[in-house]
Order: sequence, then structure tokens, then C-alpha cells
Amino acid sequence: MSTPSASPLVDRFDRRITYLRLSVTDRCDLRCAYCMPERMEFLPRAEVLTLEEMHRMALAFIARGVTKIRLTGGEPLVRRDMIELVRALGRKLGDGLEELTLTTNGTRLAELADDLRAAGVDRINVSLDTRDPALFARLSRRDMLGQVLDGIAAAKAAGLRVKINTVALKGRNEHEIPSLVGWAHGEGFDLTLIEVMPLGEVEGDRFDHYLPLDAVRRDLAARWTLTDSVASSGGPARYVEVAETGGRIGFITPLTGNFCAGCNRVRVTATGQLFMCLGGEGKVDLRAALRSDDPDTALAEAFARAMGEKPERHHFAIDAPGAAPALLRHMSTTGG
Ligand code: SAM
Ligand code: SF4
Repeated sequence: MSTPSASPLVDRFDRRITYLRLSVTDRCDLRCAYCMPERMEFLPRAEVLTLEEMHRMALAFIARGVTKIRLTGGEPLVRRDMIELVRALGRKLGDGLEELTLTTNGTRLAELADDLRAAGVDRINVSLDTRDPALFARLSRRDMLGQVLDGIAAAKAAGLRVKINTVALKGRNEHEIPSLVGWAHGEGFDLTLIEVMPLGEVEGDRFDHYLPLDAVRRDLAARWTLTDSVASSGGPARYVEVAETGGRIGFITPLTGNFCAGCNRVRVTATGQLFMCLGGEGKVDLRAALRSDDPDTALAEAFARAMGEKPERHHFAIDAPGAAPALLRHMSTTGG
């Protein structure tokens, strides 16, 4: 298998890749309307990497300088035995890996928060677009807000640092954003707002609910004292500190503000496809490399090809009602 001397991942624009987002499953127990259709077609299980293959692949990334891994999906916590992968990767913390984290919808956190913490995870992102049970059921097409809130409470009790992710939706949760922020900050959680992205076919037209975050920020600034934060997560979010609450709000603006110049990340789907950009079609097949006769050599070649192809920036936009999605791939496929 790969050795610690394997060459680091550096792309044509001299960006060093240190962050892997790994989708452990494309399946989910919710059906958020902006993310996937009600009748989402999931991958046949045989196509999905085994947890052992995911582990091997993650080790190859770590050997090439990846220091942060985020497990995502689909819903990562619905994959059976997924905690075993977390435990195995947790053993690399302090040995190449600096951070192991995940993004979850929270429905299974009440059961798993203690195990995640014990495996070495110390912070997680939980997606929550509303605290109104009826609106939650409408947005996610499942009546599961209670489980999610219990999960968030369990995560906090387990000592996990929680960040809330909220997709800002015009005419949906727009009115609730200040109270969501107030609640999150009261609990000691930062909250990041995300603009809806045109990824994959869904039933409705995302343009109807697209809410540019510059407008949200103006609205929040009328209510609270916002100061640009010098702190950065190294990711695409720009943060402000809120004087009155003592918490932070992040803004992820893939559509109104390009964030590609400092990109340090790549994504791998549950089938082992390495996508160099969330907003691009370019991919390299790591599953074929892993299942080949000589995985070490095949992976090295695949990584070299990927670094040669990582695009400079993404080009998607929601600019017209009824426009087709910029990409046919859903966020749940690539790993959000
Ligand atoms: N199921 C987990 C969750 O919801 O946190 C992890 C995967 S989900 C695809 C990751 C994030 O992507 C969530 O915060 C979700 O709200 C966001 N997301 C999904 N589809 C999106 C879209 N079309 N535009 C913007 N964000 C999206
Ligand atoms: Fe599932 Fe996350 Fe997509 Fe919602 S956003 S449907 S929770 S994968």
C-alpha cells in the first residue's frame, strides 16, 4: 500500500490538496427537496466501495498529505457499521491525520454521538434548515425534526463541537434565519448559511427558492452588529462575529462570491469516483485502481491524473427560472 513518502497532491495551480470529503453512501433517510427527488434512485450496493476499500483509499490520501477527512453522503450515519470506518480512521489521528469529522442530518446522532466522540471525532456539522416541525417535514419530506434535535443535544452532551449548516431558501426558511442563528448561538454553535446550488434534477425549480446571501447578510446587519472575522476554516465560508450573541455566522456563497482560488479539497463518491471539483464533471476512477492487480501503482497514476485535471474554478449559476441544473449529479452523490 502507499507509503508516507508518496508525493503530495499538488494541482496545476499550485494548490495543495489537504482535505478529502468522502461520501460513504448515497442513501439517505430524508428527502430534502432541494437535494433529491422523492423517488431518488440509489446506487446498487455492489457498486459502492466496501468500508475496507474506503479505509485503504483514505490511507493513500493521508500518505499523500491529506490531513483532514470529512465523511459525508447521502447520510453517512445510515450506512451500517460506518462507525467501524470512523474508528479505523480515528486511529490515524496524530499519525498524519489531524482532523476527522462528518456532516450529518442528525437523525441517528442520538445513538452514535458517544461512539463518534470516543473514536476521536471532536466536531461535526449538522444540517438544519428549520426548527419548525411542519416546515421541517415539508422541506425534508420526513417528519423527523424531533430525532434531529435530540441528536444535536446528544452531540453536545457527548462533548462534540457542533456547527449548524442551513440552506437559505426564499419563501421557505428565510423568515426564520435570525431565530435559527439566535438559537444556535445560544447553544454555543456557529451557524453557516449556504446558497442553494443547481446540482441534480429535483421536482421543483430551485430558482424559486434561491436566496442570495448578500441580502440575508444586510438583513442580519440591520438587527445585529456584525464584524468580519479574521478566523477562517480554510474552507469556502466567510465568517462574521455577532457582538450581541457572541457567536459566528458563516456564509457560503458559491453563486454570488467565487471561492475557488484557495481550494484545498477533493471529493470521493461512494463508488470511489474522485471529483476534483464539486462544480465540475471531471473525475478519476479510484475504485478501478483499488480493485486492480497493482493498487499502489494504479492509485499513484490516478492521483497524478487527478492533479493534472483539477479545474481552476467552478462555473455554475442559478441565473434563470426553469434552467436545467448546472450538473446532473446530485449533491448527495458527490458528497456535500
Ligand atoms: N446528509 C448529510 C446532511 O444533510 O448534512 C450530508 C450530505 S448533504 C448532501 C450535505 C449538505 O449539502 C447539507 O448541508 C445540505 O443541506 C447541502 N445540500 C444538499 N443539496 C444542496 C444543494 N442543491 N444546494 C446547496 N446545498 C445543498
Ligand atoms: Fe439527505 Fe443531506 Fe440530501 Fe437532506 S441534504 S436529502 S439529509 S443527503
